[in-house]
Amino acid sequence: MTNFEKINLPKTGELITFKNGRPIVPNNPIVPFIRGDGTGIDIWPATQRVIDAAINKCYGNEKKINWFKIYAGDEACEIYGTYNYLPQDTINAIKHFGIAIKGPLTTPVGGGIRSLNVALRQIFDLYSCVRPCKYYSGTPSPHKNPEDLDIIVYRENTEDIYMGIEWEADDSNCIELINHLNNNVIPNSKNLKQRNIPKGSSIGIKPVSKFGSQRHIRKAIEHAKKLSGNKRHVTLVHKGNIMKFTEGAFRDWGYELAVNEFRGDCITERESWILDNLQKNPTLTIENNAQLIEPGFDKLTTEKRIIICQEIKEIISSISETHGDNQWKNLVLVDDRIADSIFQQIQTRPQEYSILATLNLNGDYLSDAAAAIVGGLGMAPGANIGDQAAIFEATHGTAPKHAGLDKINPGSVILSGVMMLEFFGWNKAADLITKSLSKTIEDKRVTYDLARLMKPKVSPLSCSGFAESIISYF
Ligand code: NAP
Repeated sequence: MTNFEKINLPKTGELITFKNGRPIVPNNPIVPFIRGDGTGIDIWPATQRVIDAAINKCYGNEKKINWFKIYAGDEACEIYGTYNYLPQDTINAIKHFGIAIKGPLTTPVGGGIRSLNVALRQIFDLYSCVRPCKYYSGTPSPHKNPEDLDIIVYRENTEDIYMGIEWEADDSNCIELINHLNNNVIPNSKNLKQRNIPKGSSIGIKPVSKFGSQRHIRKAIEHAKKLSGNKRHVTLVHKGNIMKFTEGAFRDWGYELAVNEFRGDCITERESWILDNLQKNPTLTIENNAQLIEPGFDKLTTEKRIIICQEIKEIISSISETHGDNQWKNLVLVDDRIADSIFQQIQTRPQEYSILATLNLNGDYLSDAAAAIVGGLGMAPGANIGDQAAIFEATHGTAPKHAGLDKINPGSVILSGVMMLEFFGWNKAADLITKSLSKTIEDKRVTYDLARLMKPKVSPLSCSGFAESIISYF
């Protein structure tokens, strides 16, 4: 057993173990929690009460979480000393128990850490950030039909421009790098010869790897396999029309993975040939019963169009045995969309989407935009998941001006707790919380953020009052 310097293990409870990236959860798991800075002081106790009450209601004495308090952020500095925002005890506890749930953390100024949240994701290689955006009936929304949106943003968590490899303009390393790129790398790179990075630029690096993209997209497809109907659908979101070798590669590696790992023996050589062609020409679409056209342009010869059209027909007939009789409707559909278009699509045609697999930065923007449709940050949960650990957390920050007022909406961390219960397989307790949360919102028993948007206006509940209201519906 790991030794801890300043934290006390609960007296009872067992370890969650992982097999092939999946948790094996005992009936009395030890779960480390970080209260969080700012409004963490309000939302964490409210969340803990709701989770414990739901487990007790559903399983009596059979199941129980043994909470283990660990520290990060400002609270950690009080215990471990100035600038010790992420003590070794905390890292050891999450490493040992493989799981944690946390409130929001202030991004420290100084101390050498850019963001505690990013640091935690990188230390534990939590490569998929999972953010469901689902509407709870009665929640005020700027949209006419917010209930049509029910998506899960799968945001890659460890790569992309978010790695923070960047240099300030006029930094000597930055000037040296620009000179090297302008004088050596660009002239020697096919298709880049006319380009020149303007002097005085800042530089950021955007690494996107095949390994990183595929392990993340694999998780998204695995998730889609557990869904039903038209929700068995993964959309690869990218800006590959402009950034071909990073964002475009994310799409290509996604399709490659889908075909090689998830099609199994079903794939024929002809199917693979067609997929290759579709990937090389991302603007191709299939319309009117397998007529392949390229909208707006005429780069393909008619002959090629006909050939591809025939191939599509052959594919349909060659796979009719396994895909006919509507059997294809049970399969997981993998498609792709350009990032800017998906921002429109989640507003104009939300019911057509389910899981959106994205790179890091796109996913950050997209999940907030989707959260706005279904009620804002107070209702936006999240989980950071890797193969050896998972950390569940609210999507929002510390909202310092509301801290300690027992006012803020605890919904985001409560719903992150719901995701944790689902991760455990404790779905009965998870469902009880979501149903009761729905009822309390329908009855207009909500915190200030939702109350101010309701028409007619309603008097808000406190943060703890909202938690009590959820429990009262159990
Ligand atoms: P923020 O803490 O998310 O707060 C911005 C605004 O969002 C709040 O003033 C509030 O709006 C609304 N909001 C936030 N949490 C809410 C909740 N639970 N219920 C209802 N409304 C909520 O963003 P910030 O002020 O930019 O960041 C503050 C600190 O948090 C920074 O240090 C930042 O680095 C950190 N941060 C941490 C995380 C994380 O831990 N995962 C994420 C983002 C930011 P109104 O006042 O209009 O009601």
